[in-house]
Amino acid sequence: MRLKIYQAGAPVLRKRACLLSVEEIKSPPIQQLIELMRETMRDAPGVGLAAPQVGESLQIAVIEDSSERINGLPDDIRDDRECAPVPFHVIINPVLTFEQSTPVSFFEGCLSIAGYAAVVPRAHFVRVECLNEDGDSQVIKAQGWYARILQHEIDHLHGTLYVDRMNTRSFMTQENYLKNWHTKTSAEIETSLHADHS
Ligand code: ZN
Repeated sequence: MRLKIYQAGAPVLRKRACLLSVEEIKSPPIQQLIELMRETMRDAPGVGLAAPQVGESLQIAVIEDSSERINGLPDDIRDDRECAPVPFHVIINPVLTFEQSTPVSFFEGCLSIAGYAAVVPRAHFVRVECLNEDGDSQVIKAQGWYARILQHEIDHLHGTLYVDRMNTRSFMTQENYLKNWHTKTSAEIETSLHADHS
């Protein structure tokens, strides 16, 4: 079953989502929500989905970047974006810490802003403390594309969308992104953005 994905303008996307207790995490309704979020993310398809995107103001996000998707990218793009397969996992009540690094700018999209993309600067390295779907504590250290996914999803749990952080002049339709920008490296994107500003 695929859940409805709320689009920008829905108030739930702008609220700070609620924390969950371990008891709540283990309850059947939350376990079922996680399962439905997984199906919805895969069906969309997307590499992450946060509970507010399906209308639930809860601090839960599911993440998965499959090897099928990554293997479909050209080698240089995969390396430039630092994409590596990320197995399915769940983050609950996450606390994000930025490791010292220069931000990296890349295009990203969002299932709640369907049909568009923009360049968003994100930290290169992050550390996330959270609970998993069993209510166990975990620490995630990530870099590159995975770090970007984590920052994007955790933003959703705080009512923030990528449009709040994007380079506004880079905002475009998904169609134009795929036509003109999809194969550009981060260096080429940076150069173009700066050229456009001059
Ligand atoms: Zn999103």
